[in-house]
Amino acid sequence: MSVLDQQVFQEQKAVEILSVLLRKGKVPHALLFTGIEGIGKRTLALMFAMALNCRRFADRPDLLQAGLWMGAVAGCDCKSCRKIRSGSHPDIHRVAAAGAVIKIDQVRELCHTISMKPFEAAVRVVIIEGAQAMNPESSNALLKVLEEPPDRTVFVLTAVEPRDLAQTIVSRCQKVGFHPVSRGRLAAAWRKKYDIPPGEADILAAMAEGGPCRIDMALPADRSAWIKRRSWIIGRLSEIMTRKGQDLSVNGLLAVAERLARKKAAAEGSLDVIRSWLRDLIVCRHCPEKIFNQDALSDIQRISLNYTEISLLSKIEAVDAAQRDLRSNANVRLTLEVMVLQLAKK
Ligand SMILES: [Zn+2]
Repeated sequence: MSVLDQQVFQEQKAVEILSVLLRKGKVPHALLFTGIEGIGKRTLALMFAMALNCRRFADRPDLLQAGLWMGAVAGCDCKSCRKIRSGSHPDIHRVAAAGAVIKIDQVRELCHTISMKPFEAAVRVVIIEGAQAMNPESSNALLKVLEEPPDRTVFVLTAVEPRDLAQTIVSRCQKVGFHPVSRGRLAAAWRKKYDIPPGEADILAAMAEGGPCRIDMALPADRSAWIKRRSWIIGRLSEIMTRKGQDLSVNGLLAVAERLARKKAAAEGSLDVIRSWLRDLIVCRHCPEKIFNQDALSDIQRISLNYTEISLLSKIEAVDAAQRDLRSNANVRLTLEVMVLQLAKK
């Protein structure tokens, strides 16, 4: 478990459901984990796979009975837990979209593999990450396996919402819902864990938007770089939108886009910052206490007065479009140039 504090996770109803299944030893063939991006569905799926196979519980069934399985596997050094943690366990399979979809060939290959007995696991676990990426062919192929699942095999599908999947698949799974973690709880957990100042922890927690894994990448190594980048972005946004682009030369705007585009991996994170800031321009009118960027509240309130809600929504759409384009491998610089010019429009 990385950034996710166990305590943060323990609050989840999802953990309680899994604890009951483990305690009773009655785990269904298929589970569907749902919740927002970055909430920790994949992390918990892997921990659950560890719990189903951990050697420790043979001697210490009391840990399972007491619902202490997460803590037990998090620090466990048994062969099975180590292999799962390092991604080298032969019976733990992870399937995710290669590109935009989970292809039929991926599901066929999986079906072939699991038609044989598990190599060493007590329970083989198949994790289908972002299962909404299955196309109808892949869904049908998976449905056939779910209807007649192989022995000693548990499927864990993850998705944002059940309605993103074919209903025939959903009806075969026990649903396990994850809820966004409150900002205060996240900030408190990170402050304690990384010994960072309250202001920084609050900003990170707000940016996580309830999904603690969302800024997993930013913590702890790149934390200060991330905070710096964020304040640079917010500074430029305030500038662009205070003047409504009037005094800014096109060259100035393109320079901002150029800097945002320098590292593709960071560009996506930057778009998250921009999106949350634009969202705050709308939210601050109704409930200022709910804005993410609390440290910029007065700027946000001032700039918000210059725009109609429709105009702000269209800017958020421009950011969403840029996000989609980046994911489908469009030219990074061109995409961000178009977006920045949209932001500068009245
Ligand atoms: Zn173990």
